[in-house]
Amino acid sequence: MIPTVKKPRLAFFSFTCCEGCQLMVLNCEDEFPDLVKLVDIVNFREAMSEKSDDYDVAFVEGSISRREEIKKLKEIRKRASTVIALGACSSTGGLNCLRNRFPVEEAKRIVYGKDAAVRKIKDTIRARPIDSIIEVDHYIHGCPITKEEFLSTLKALLLGKAPEVPNHPVCVDCKMAGNICVFERGATCMGPVTRAGCNAICITYGSICWGCRGTVDNPNMDAHEETLRRYGLTADSVTRSLDLYGGCTVRKKTGRGD
Ligand code: SF4
Ligand code: SF4
Ligand code: SF4
Repeated sequence: MIPTVKKPRLAFFSFTCCEGCQLMVLNCEDEFPDLVKLVDIVNFREAMSEKSDDYDVAFVEGSISRREEIKKLKEIRKRASTVIALGACSSTGGLNCLRNRFPVEEAKRIVYGKDAAVRKIKDTIRARPIDSIIEVDHYIHGCPITKEEFLSTLKALLLGKAPEVPNHPVCVDCKMAGNICVFERGATCMGPVTRAGCNAICITYGSICWGCRGTVDNPNMDAHEETLRRYGLTADSVTRSLDLYGGCTVRKKTGRGD
């Protein structure tokens, strides 16, 4: 009789976020037939109604912004042997950290306008990445993640290897893509300090890098600031550039930002 090998059980969880990173996982529809031969997916609210508390690998999407989420996240950590932060909200705090800049009442006014008074928001705390609460084993960066990085992370885990996370700046990918630097047209860009792995897609399609993949491990903010000055931009624009994605983690790494 051929011995049966127990397949790793995967679970997906979502906290404060738009769930766009889970959608990117669902975009792996061409790969799913092969995937389900290798793993069992036991928890994935966006795709199935069955749920199980018995899992090996937990993919956690979203920031933590309520006390009740802290309790649930700690439960996930206890049950899973491997926890993976899925996307910017979970890895760095992401866009949700913008909210930390305002008192709750002010944030409500900005979001709900004249209906703010009737909106009840309870149990809210400063938005934060999941590694401020629990230990995280691996990170898949980006807002949203790329399906290629999700698949390569999973493949590495199945092979018993540590997933590779790029630690060079977006500028390298940008040069390889043959783009003309946006500084040449007077725009600013977070590429020099942002973790690569997206093929500099935003610049290739005519925009700038907003830093959604978080900073490289040791971002050289002084050099970035110097570049900005060289192109006649102010240090203040550095701080503004960090606002979108860097609020929760950039200060820790660089002493700048929120
Ligand atoms: S990282 Fe971006 S796409 Fe992913 S859940 Fe957060 S806001 Fe949505
Ligand atoms: S600063 Fe931005 S546009 Fe210029 S090379 Fe780097 S990533 Fe590309
Ligand atoms: S270019 Fe920058 S903002 Fe765009 S996907 Fe890459 S890291 Fe994110």
